[in-house]
Amino acid sequence: MVQKQFQAESKRLLEMMINSIYTQREIFLRELISNSSDAIDKIYYKALTDDQLVFNKDDYFIKVSADKDKRTLTLTDTGIGMTEEELENNLGVIAKSGSLAFKKENELKDGHNIIGQFGVGFYSAFMVADEVTVTTKPLGSEQAYKWVSQGAEGYTIEPAEKDAVGTEIVLKIKENSEDDNYDEFLEQYRLRAIIKKYSDFIRYPIKMDITGQRPAEGDDKELESYVEEQTVNSMVPIWRRNKNELTDADYEQFYNEKRYGFDKPLKHVHISADGAVVYNAILYIPENTPFDYYTKEYEKGLELYSNGVLIMEKCGDLLPDYFSFVKGMVDSEDLSLNISRELLQHDRQLKLIAKNIKNKIKGQLQSLVKDEREKYERFYASFGRQLKFGVYNDYGMHKEDLQDLLLFNSSKEKKLVTLDEYVSGMPEEQKYIYYASGESIDRLEKLPQTELVKDKGYEILYLTDDIDEFAIKMIAQYKEKEFKSVSSGDLGIEPDENDKQSEEEQNETKDLFEQMNAILGGKVTAVKASKRLRSHPVCLTADGELTIEMEKILKAMPNGQDVKADKVLEINVNHPVFESLKTAHAGDQEKFGLYTNLLYSQALLIEGLPLQDPVEFTNDLCKIMV
Ligand code: ADP
Repeated sequence: MVQKQFQAESKRLLEMMINSIYTQREIFLRELISNSSDAIDKIYYKALTDDQLVFNKDDYFIKVSADKDKRTLTLTDTGIGMTEEELENNLGVIAKSGSLAFKKENELKDGHNIIGQFGVGFYSAFMVADEVTVTTKPLGSEQAYKWVSQGAEGYTIEPAEKDAVGTEIVLKIKENSEDDNYDEFLEQYRLRAIIKKYSDFIRYPIKMDITGQRPAEGDDKELESYVEEQTVNSMVPIWRRNKNELTDADYEQFYNEKRYGFDKPLKHVHISADGAVVYNAILYIPENTPFDYYTKEYEKGLELYSNGVLIMEKCGDLLPDYFSFVKGMVDSEDLSLNISRELLQHDRQLKLIAKNIKNKIKGQLQSLVKDEREKYERFYASFGRQLKFGVYNDYGMHKEDLQDLLLFNSSKEKKLVTLDEYVSGMPEEQKYIYYASGESIDRLEKLPQTELVKDKGYEILYLTDDIDEFAIKMIAQYKEKEFKSVSSGDLGIEPDENDKQSEEEQNETKDLFEQMNAILGGKVTAVKASKRLRSHPVCLTADGELTIEMEKILKAMPNGQDVKADKVLEINVNHPVFESLKTAHAGDQEKFGLYTNLLYSQALLIEGLPLQDPVEFTNDLCKIMV
C-alpha cells in the first residue's frame, strides 16, 4: 500500500493541530459531529428529488462511543459516505474552508489563534488522537474504503468491509503526558457535556451508550450497572428557540459552529416572523472583512432552510449587494422544499423575506449609528466601502436606504460624522454641503482650495476613498442641501467687500489672464482671479460636473477612461507673486511665460497630478535661480 503525502497546507495545519493548546481541544467533537450531520443532510436532500430513495427519519443518527481499554473514541454516522475519490480529495487536502490561505506565516506559528477563531474541520481530530481511521461506504455503492493516518506523515487508503452506508471514524486517543490529560475524551460524562455544549441543536439524534446504576433484582442493597442508549442532544435548532432563553454566547457559538466567520460577530439579529410569511432567521453583522470580501470570489448569501432542512448554502437573493457582508440563515415553512434555483428567484415568499431582512439590517445599522457609534465605526472601517458602492450602483436606486449610514471625516470635528450631523451643524447662511476629495486627510487639510470655505467657518467633509465622490454625486442633495466640491468653479459664497475687484482692476487683469491662457495652450479652459485663495498663490479648480479627483480615479481604472475635467487655473491676486506676474507681463514677455508655466506646474503638483514634463519644470526653476 502506498503511503500518500498530505498537501503542504494540510500538513501545516495538521502540525498545528497536533501541537494545539489544551483548552480548545474539545471542539474536535463539534467539528466531526457537524460533518456527520452535513452528510445526513445530503441524503435527506437527495431523497427529496429522488423517488427511489426514501428517507425514514428513524434510520438516521450519529453515534459516539468510547472504549477506555482500547483508548478509542468512535463516531458513526448514517450519512452519505464518501467514494474513494472523495476520501482522497476531502481528507487529503484542506477543502474549501481554506482558513489558512490568508493567514500570515507568523500567525500560523501561533497555532492556537487559528483554532480558536476558525472551524478547522476534520483535521481537528489530530488534537486528541495520534491515529485516525475513517471507514466509509458511499450511498449507491457496495464498496467501502478505509483511510488511515497517523498525522503529518501522510495517509493510506484501501478497500474495506462495511455493512451500512455511512462513515465511521475511529480516533486512537493520545496517551496522557506530564502536562496533558487526554483520558477525559474517553469519559461518558465529559463527552456528553461537550456534545450538549456545542452540538445540542443538531437535527439528528446524537446517541451515546450511557451507563446507569439500578438496584439489582432481589437484593435491594446491591446496585448493578446497566447500559442504555440515549439521545444526548435536544435537536431543537437555535433559531427555533425562544430569544429570551438565549445568551450572546449562544449566538456566538452558533456563528462559530456554522463557520460564518472567523471573528466575533459585532451584532446578531434573531427574527421570528409570523406575518405575511412565516420564517425564523438569525443574522450576523461581522466585525472584520473576510479576506476575500472585496474580490470577485466572494459570494454573498444566507443559508436557506425549508422547515429545518438546508436547501441552499448561499441564497444570494436574500441579500442586496450592499449588505453582502451579512451572514446567517433563514428557515421558512412557506418555501417548497424541492423548488429549483430558477423558480426560487421568482418566489413571492422569498422576496418578502428578503425585503423584510433588508429592513431589519438597515434598522440595526441605524441604531448602531445612533447608540453605539464606536461599534459602528469598527463596522464602517470594514464595510463602509460596500455601503458607498451601494449608494453609487444601480443609478442611485438605493441611496435613500443607505445615505444615513454613511460617515465622512469632518474638517471641524476631526472625526467621522453623518450627513445628518453635518447638516444640523450648518450655519443658516451656508447654502451647500462642502467636501474636498483627495488621497489623505493630511493632504486635504493643506489643500489651498479649502481656504475660503474654512475662513467662513464652514465644515468640510474630507473624502479619501476613491468611491466617495461618486457616491456623493449620486446622492446629489441631502435634506435639500446640494453637495459642492471645494474645487468647483463657483463655491456659492459671496465675496467680502475687500475681495471685490474694481471694474478697472478687472479689465487690467482680464488681458493678463487671457495671455496666460494662451501660453498654456489649451491645458486649462480658463485662467482667473481666485475668490477662494487666502495665503496660497495658485490652485486648480474644475468647471462642470467632473472634478479633478474623479478624472484621476477614472483614469486609474483598468480600462482607463480618458475623460478630462474642465480645469481652471485660479490665481490669488492678493499674493505678492501676482505683483511679479504683473511686472513681467508689462515688461518681459519671456519671464511672463516662464512664470505662467511655473505657476501651472505648481498647481498640478498641489493637486497630485503628474507634470507633463518634469525636466522642463526643473529647468524653469533653475532659470529663476540664476
Ligand atoms: P469542511 O467541513 O469545512 O468542508 P472538513 O475538513 O471538516 O472541512 O471536511 C472535508 C470534507 O470531507 C467535507 O466537506 C465532506 O465532504 C467530507 N466529510 C467529512 N466528514 C464526513 C462524513 N462524516 N461523511 C461524509 N463526508 C464527510
